[in-house]
Amino acid sequence: MTEQQLAERLKPVFEHLHHHPEISWEEKETTGYLADFLKKEGLKPKTFDHMTGLYVDIGPGEPKVGFRTDIDALWQEVDGQWRANHSCGHDAHMTVALGVVLLLKEMEAHLPGAVRILFQPAEEKGEGAKAFVKAGVVDNLEYLFGAHIRPHFELKDGTFAAAIRHGAVKLFKGNIHGTEAHGARPEQGVNAIEAAAAIVDGLKRIWIDPNRTGSIKMTQLHAGGQSSNIIPATATFSIDARAQDNETMEALTTGFKKVVESVETLYGADIDWETAAYVAAAEVDSSAREILKRAIIDVAGEENFAEDIVTPGGEDFHFYALFRPQLKTTMLGIGCGATPGLHHPHMTFNWERVPTAARIIARALVLALKAVRQLRVVAGNDAQGRAVTGDGRGDGR
Ligand SMILES: [Zn+2]
Ligand SMILES: [Zn+2]
Repeated sequence: MTEQQLAERLKPVFEHLHHHPEISWEEKETTGYLADFLKKEGLKPKTFDHMTGLYVDIGPGEPKVGFRTDIDALWQEVDGQWRANHSCGHDAHMTVALGVVLLLKEMEAHLPGAVRILFQPAEEKGEGAKAFVKAGVVDNLEYLFGAHIRPHFELKDGTFAAAIRHGAVKLFKGNIHGTEAHGARPEQGVNAIEAAAAIVDGLKRIWIDPNRTGSIKMTQLHAGGQSSNIIPATATFSIDARAQDNETMEALTTGFKKVVESVETLYGADIDWETAAYVAAAEVDSSAREILKRAIIDVAGEENFAEDIVTPGGEDFHFYALFRPQLKTTMLGIGCGATPGLHHPHMTFNWERVPTAARIIARALVLALKAVRQLRVVAGNDAQGRAVTGDGRGDGR
């Protein structure tokens, strides 16, 4: 299939998806449209009874490598009207995925193994990846690639990056339960504001590796009623935690728990809290990144290969590697001049980059299939070597 043929085939697909946005967990028409497209290509897509989204396998045997696209839109105000809107580019990602399907179908007879394409719902809610993990969709995969279009200020139009290093985000919400008292009798009460102040102070006493970045701050505090002469018994608070890697987020979480426990002991207040939102940081695998880098250079040329993107934004793709550590993952950053920025109601981008991105991903999947097969061969040789020499030196010291 020539570049132009692929573009002509994909353009109406993108137009359809773009004009039929559906929000998280409600991607029913989208799921149906994607399933029909795949069936027309002679494939057997698998849908779910309990949720939207689907996946499909192409090639011989059990799939070991995969590509994941998100499929949901945002709910936002567009020209004074609230509606679903594809302003995060998930319509572009779906089109990339279908382009990958067309390209892989074309070489199906020569594929060295099977590839799984995942059409994942509810990314914007941070729930879809977890649901796919739970459904076992990635259990037998070794490589998983993702992709996301980038805003113009992050990545030059026409260039591609082999990793998007999203940070981790956690939001905690909590309640402090103290004891009310007259302002003149503070010794008889437990002041929720003082306990909250102690939490704020305690957060400054969480130490992390100085070579890593992280932040944990109280961002909301509500306490006290109409009267200014009462020691307030209750307060509600929110905490915003950020880290560039998952280990640091773990350290911040453990530190926050200790702070809460010590404030409870010191003040005699009860404090309950919960994690209100969570997205994991990118776990970029170096071999997956190398494969994607080679694919970018092969398809788009060395001059269009860009350095990794470091961004504070979140992406639920990173839950796959967090919950299934056998997975080698990375995300393709697509430089398509997205403007003014992602999630803007009138976000636009250079559509021409979609077929190119599909070619890059298709190439990366084939390279990953070869890498998986090579690893098998090497592992087989090692075992043989040990058996032949029998001197215990074949253990790769
Ligand atoms: Zn988004
Ligand atoms: Zn997105």
